Amino acid sequence: MRVYSGERLCSKCFTTSVEDKVKATIARNKMFKPDDRIAVAVSGGKDSITLLHIMTEFEKLFPKASLCAVTVDEGIQGYRDEAVRLASEYCQKNDIEHFVASFKDLFNVQLDELVLLLKKKIKTSNGVLSPCAYCGVLRRRALNIVARQAKADKLALAHNLDDEVQTILLNIMHGDAPRIARVKPVLEASHPMFVPRVKPICEVPEKEIAFYAYLRKTEFQSIPCPYAPTALRNDIRQMLNRIEERHAGTKYTIFRSVEKIRPALEAAEKEITLHACSVCGEPTVGEICKPCELLQKIGLK
Ligand code: SF4
Ligand code: ZN
Repeated sequence: MRVYSGERLCSKCFTTSVEDKVKATIARNKMFKPDDRIAVAVSGGKDSITLLHIMTEFEKLFPKASLCAVTVDEGIQGYRDEAVRLASEYCQKNDIEHFVASFKDLFNVQLDELVLLLKKKIKTSNGVLSPCAYCGVLRRRALNIVARQAKADKLALAHNLDDEVQTILLNIMHGDAPRIARVKPVLEASHPMFVPRVKPICEVPEKEIAFYAYLRKTEFQSIPCPYAPTALRNDIRQMLNRIEERHAGTKYTIFRSVEKIRPALEAAEKEITLHACSVCGEPTVGEICKPCELLQKIGLK
C-alpha cells in the first residue's frame, strides 16, 4: 500500500481512481457521442501517452467509436524527434492509426529556424514574442488541420489540471477575459473548419498522471524542451506548486472559480463572426489569422 494525494491506495486502486476521475469528467461534460471518431493529440510525453492509453481502454466499450492519434512535429532538434518516435511506437504496438504533421510541411519553417529569426529580430526591435508564444499558436493551428485531415469529430487534448490552472493565471496576467472563459473542458466548434476540442484529463493533477504513467511503466519522453526555461509558464508552475504545498487544493479552487465566473465572462463577450483569413483561408476573427500575423512579423509570409 502506498499513499497518493493524501489517500492510502494500492497501485491498482490508484490507477482505477485516476480512470474514474477521467470518466466522470467525460460524463459530466458530455464530451463524446457513442459513434465519434476521436483524434488524440499525442506529443510523446507522459500526459498524452496516458490519455491515449485511457481513451483506448474506453473506446473498447463503444464499438461504433473509433480512435486515432495526431502528432505535431515542431522541429526541435534533440527533443521532438524522440517524442515523435515514442508516439509512433506506442501507436504501432497498439494498432492505432497515427497522423503526423510538421511545422515544416504546414508553415515551411521549423521551430529551431524560427527561433534563430526571432533572435535576430530581438536585436533590432522590441515586442518580439518568445519561442513558446509562436509554438503554441502554430501547434494549435497544426493540430486542427491534422485532426480535420484525420476526419475526426473531436480532438482530445492531454491538458491536465496543472496546465489548465497555469493557463488561467497567464490569461489573467494578460487581462484576456475571453481566453479565461475559453479554458474549459469542451471547446465547441465555432466554425465548420474547427474540430471541437475536449480535455478528458483536465481535472487530474499532473502528479497523479506522473504516478499513473510510472505504475504502468509507460515509456515517455522525459527530457524537457530546450526552450521551456524561457517561458513565463515555467515560473507560474513553480509558484503554483509552492502554494499547493502550503495550501492543498489551491489548483482545484482556481479551476472551480473560473467555472463560476465563466457565464458572466461569456455573457459580456460580443458575438464573434468568423471568416476566412485573407492569407491562408483558415477561419479567423480578424482579416488575418494569428499564425499568419506571427509569421508575417518575422518576414515569413
Ligand atoms: Fe513549444 Fe515552448 Fe512547449 Fe517547447 S516549451 S514545446 S517551445 S510551447
Ligand atoms: Zn492565415
